[in-house]
Amino acid sequence: MKVSFYGHVRQYNNIKAEIDANLKEVIESGAYVMGPMLKRFETELATFHGTKHAIGVGNGTDAIWMALMALGIGPGDEVITHANTFFATAEAIWIAGATAVLVDCCPDTKCIDPAKIEAAITPKTKAIIPVHLYGQCADMPAIWAIAEKHNLQVIEDNAQAIDAAGSGFKIGEKSAAATTSFIIQKNLGTFGDGGAVVTNCAEMDATIRKLRNHGSAARNVHSFGFNSRLDDLHAGVLSAKLKHIHAWNDNRRQWAARYTAGLQGARNFTLPVERPGYRHVYHLYVIETKNPAHRDQLVQFLNDNGVDAKTHYSIAIHQQEGYPWGKDARIAGSLENAERNAATCVSLPMFPELTAEEVDYVIAKTKEWDAANA
Ligand SMILES: *Cc1c(COP(=O)(O)O)cnc(C)c1O
Repeated sequence: MKVSFYGHVRQYNNIKAEIDANLKEVIESGAYVMGPMLKRFETELATFHGTKHAIGVGNGTDAIWMALMALGIGPGDEVITHANTFFATAEAIWIAGATAVLVDCCPDTKCIDPAKIEAAITPKTKAIIPVHLYGQCADMPAIWAIAEKHNLQVIEDNAQAIDAAGSGFKIGEKSAAATTSFIIQKNLGTFGDGGAVVTNCAEMDATIRKLRNHGSAARNVHSFGFNSRLDDLHAGVLSAKLKHIHAWNDNRRQWAARYTAGLQGARNFTLPVERPGYRHVYHLYVIETKNPAHRDQLVQFLNDNGVDAKTHYSIAIHQQEGYPWGKDARIAGSLENAERNAATCVSLPMFPELTAEEVDYVIAKTKEWDAANA
């Protein structure tokens, strides 16, 4: 049996009529950039998040640095994030011209460890960018409390966790902004690149609307800006998919529960940890080998048996060759949990359109490897 890592085409086929209708509507309207479909999707996205505003942009990376820029954060300012996120989180800090300060993650959830943040704060610190890694919210109440105490801005990198929730809090609720990515492999993905910023702040909304469109809010009137818009064709795809995202994430949660039940009691790896009361939307289902030397063996064994297992992310940001490429960066304290995560992570196939047969096959092969490595 072959089990792929993504189910993009299965997903398209399941709701083909809805997506095709939106694409046709956009194509026949003649409005392809900043048109009515983008407006419609932005309204739907804001409603979905329970925020006042949503702004479609070119991709999830631009969403982060434009939010930083809108807050006036740039050269000389420090922005705290963690070392085991996808590279773009740190990259966006550098694109904004600020200093990336890397702290460690929690050993269990792999999200930023709030207990490590305060020691990393200096008079130059302006913001914290927690990442809802793998689809589970970071400990936002703890992060918001630190931010409030030290007068820092918070931008949530929500590229991996649309429709996730914490225990008693919502994504973006008390932050300057939350950003997301719509690249196809994310939980809500289009047929290419896309991103968005959601915010309750009218000034952030207005500034990002200008930044994404050559600094222009009115025809022929410009201030310095960029070209980073969400195309209407993508907005049409996303508008169709947004109606299904909650149910799709429920499917992901169901497959995660099946993996966790089936892999219980393994000797050679640990399973993902779900915080009580949190809605984890399993962008990724990541297990960790107890022995780092086992990691590549397990991935190879699964690949050899038709299971497209991957690693997220096997090189932490500060471990990348050439880091930090002349950019301003600082490591705050030990990054041992991030480094262990990089050395031991294995992502099993995870997408809503998996079948029980496929999940059970992945479980069987993973257990087979585990039994052979007593
Ligand atoms: C995907 C991702 C991004 C970047 O999004 P793009 O749309 O690829 O630019 C940023 N942060 C995290 C955590 C991501 O997973």
